[in-house]
Amino acid sequence: MKVIFLGPPGSGKGTQAKMVSERLGIPQVSTGDMLRSAVREGTPMGLKAKALMDSGALVADEVVVGIVQERLVKVDCEPGFILDGFPRTVPQADALQACLGGLNKNLDAVISLEVDSDAVVERITGRRTCRDCGKMFHVRFDPPAQEDICDVCGGELYLRDDDQEATIRKRLMVYAEQTAPLIAYYQQSGLVSAIDGMQGIAQVQDQILVAMGRK
Ligand code: AMP
Repeated sequence: MKVIFLGPPGSGKGTQAKMVSERLGIPQVSTGDMLRSAVREGTPMGLKAKALMDSGALVADEVVVGIVQERLVKVDCEPGFILDGFPRTVPQADALQACLGGLNKNLDAVISLEVDSDAVVERITGRRTCRDCGKMFHVRFDPPAQEDICDVCGGELYLRDDDQEATIRKRLMVYAEQTAPLIAYYQQSGLVSAIDGMQGIAQVQDQILVAMGRK
């Protein structure tokens, strides 16, 4: 199963992608996670990406396309994958088509999570991310056992620079301008299932699995 999860920041796409990944035993390929780990490791690409990410802008297409191309040829992607946060622009979608064509693969589904912008701001400003392992919590919806401490590795939890309110508004604008057009792009091939991301996590999960023909 090769599937794309589309949705604005805070739509729950990362959470849902992780749950579906565990349930179906196929990897979650998150460009945001890969870029953040490059930032943590201080690689040249990470250093370049950081300023753009902190400001809410997108990283250059060729950089993310390169990362995804390297990832999709790995053996664990053979049975399928969930693309989370990629593609985010039409050129990235074109590059993905070319890459899949080269691997003799086709997309099976595009899940589009729809949410209300103000609710997204509340969801995101409550998010806390572990500095060490990257695990995410939410101060209201999924709090850690101990405030600001990661349940998994004991690392410090922090509010990502790109999760500050002004940056979120900018990211929502970037989504509307550059990523939302991908819904129409994939609708042409009849792959899109739109799902109301304002429902509870379990309900959204059920509807995603139904749309993917896995329930
Ligand atoms: P995410 O965790 O998916 O919300 O991504 C966090 C940030 O990483 C975004 O705001 C962008 O700056 C960058 N990023 C992640 N995926 C992409 C992508 N496909 N294209 C460009 N920038 C990306």
